[in-house]
Amino acid sequence: MTFSIHGIAVARGIAIGRAVILASGRVDVAHYFIESDQTDSEIARVRAGRNAVVDEIHRLQQTIASMGPKEAPHELSALLDVHLMLLQDEELIQGVKHWITDRLYNAEWALTTQLDVLSRQFDDMEDEYLRERKADLEQVAERILRYMKGAPSPVTHPPPSKRKTPQDLLLDDSVDVPLVLVAHDLSPADMLQFKQSVFAGFATDVGGKTSHTAIVARSLDIPAVVGARSASQLARQDDWVIIDGDAGVMIVDPSPIILAEYGFKQRQGELERGRLARLRHTPALTLDGQKIELLANIELPEDAISALKAGAAGVGLFRSEFLFMGRNGNTPDEEEQYDAYRRAIEGMEGLPVTIRTVDVGADKPLDDSHRDEAHANPALGLRAIRWSLSEPEMFRTQLRAILRAAAHGKVNLLVPMLAHAGEIRQTLSLIDFARAELDNRGTPYGPVQIGAMIEVPAAALSLRTFLRYFDFLSIGTNDLIQYTLAIDRDDESVAHLYDPCHPAVLKLVADTIAECNRQGKGVSVCGEMAGDVQFTRLLLGLGLRSFSMHPAQILTVKQEVLRADASRLQAWAREVIEAEDPAALLNAG
Ligand code: PEP
Ligand code: MG
Repeated sequence: MTFSIHGIAVARGIAIGRAVILASGRVDVAHYFIESDQTDSEIARVRAGRNAVVDEIHRLQQTIASMGPKEAPHELSALLDVHLMLLQDEELIQGVKHWITDRLYNAEWALTTQLDVLSRQFDDMEDEYLRERKADLEQVAERILRYMKGAPSPVTHPPPSKRKTPQDLLLDDSVDVPLVLVAHDLSPADMLQFKQSVFAGFATDVGGKTSHTAIVARSLDIPAVVGARSASQLARQDDWVIIDGDAGVMIVDPSPIILAEYGFKQRQGELERGRLARLRHTPALTLDGQKIELLANIELPEDAISALKAGAAGVGLFRSEFLFMGRNGNTPDEEEQYDAYRRAIEGMEGLPVTIRTVDVGADKPLDDSHRDEAHANPALGLRAIRWSLSEPEMFRTQLRAILRAAAHGKVNLLVPMLAHAGEIRQTLSLIDFARAELDNRGTPYGPVQIGAMIEVPAAALSLRTFLRYFDFLSIGTNDLIQYTLAIDRDDESVAHLYDPCHPAVLKLVADTIAECNRQGKGVSVCGEMAGDVQFTRLLLGLGLRSFSMHPAQILTVKQEVLRADASRLQAWAREVIEAEDPAALLNAG
């Protein structure tokens, strides 16, 4: 039966495919595709895990047998019997084998997927006693996973897959069809794994428009919907699903008519992309001849390829924290970082690259064991530059790596989330210190322009101080909106209040652009607002000449730039930001 689930549209386009459900609450489990010749070793890993847990239970049973009934009540041994029975259940092992051999999931992913399938069967049971056995099943799977975590894995790299395009599905139901990921949530580290894989689209239960999951989804350039509440509960493994990334809807089990309609929309979208691609080499000039700089936001050095392909004039934001995440808290050393930054710089073939120092904390934990559960308000906690200043060794290592990479091309160094003059001075003196360390070592390094992100209202209200110290500013509207309006950007329950058009937000953005222009300092916007065509004319009218966004958005924004007359937009832009309801004017303009 066809049904649809509404969420928040975060990445445009239509995806049609079979659902791959990621079991909820297991974002700490590695998910990646294996090669077909690795299936036996992955099955062996699960078997070894299961056998180890069976042995462990046997040993426990022997210990219990040697105890009296007071120390070891009868219920305990009955419970262990249930666990043994579940471990020997063929449906568990056969199911795991199916996900490994037929879908090429890695062992942990296959196990949690089968656990999810069986859990749903338990949920549907009439008998309460049997229903409650679900908890035992989860415990058993948890023990296998824990064992597997300790045992070495023979599979190290998630290889790219060779699946077919979405169109194949409409032509032939028997082919290896595209896959659509449906998950409760995805950690940014998980998203990086999927960057190398094959999903045609994805939907998550949680997340807001500018959550980091949404941001990485945009950079994957696949249709995506977040905040789709119970999507991962309502859809089942292998269901046909459509992700409508324009409308923010996921359709489960579509009828043939709906499928045909979306197949048509999908082809229209591809034609539009083909048309936009012709703008790649067109200079980004407004009708009145103003030169506009369209830059790319990237997460990994390899993203330089898509940045160049989209015709970016450089990288306006390299989110370096993605090099730090998902490594069990071990931060990358100087050489590894130097190598990554150098690859990004060389990948951009002489165009400038702005490297932002690490911005972990809040919704971007270093890894799952670092999730900030101890703090009630992680977004207001030890995040970004605050974390870097609290870990000066780690920070100087990063600064040295960036300075060394700057010997290979034009590099700007960008510092996130500053608010206090004291933090600014501390940061700049650590940069001097890092230079002195390289001098003492005799290691070559290059010059950098140093910039600050304007992400906290306190920063936007202290522009003179910021401009006294920095060469340029970059407005991070995602956080600026979050902190100005007191709206958690990750929380879908307040997503309707997350409003880039709020007059207070627009005033801070407008003042920052105006003050930089007045002082002849560089200013850009690198938050999601920069890539949203709805705001292109407004930002141009406010005097912005540098926009940084996901490569996938560059050509659409360029098309808007080519149609705009920047000088004529000035008066209208003033009117918009002074209005009580700027959104109404924006849409009418
Ligand atoms: C922002 O806050 O707008 C920004 C670009 O930084 P991030 O999204 O990585 O927090
Ligand atoms: Mg930010």
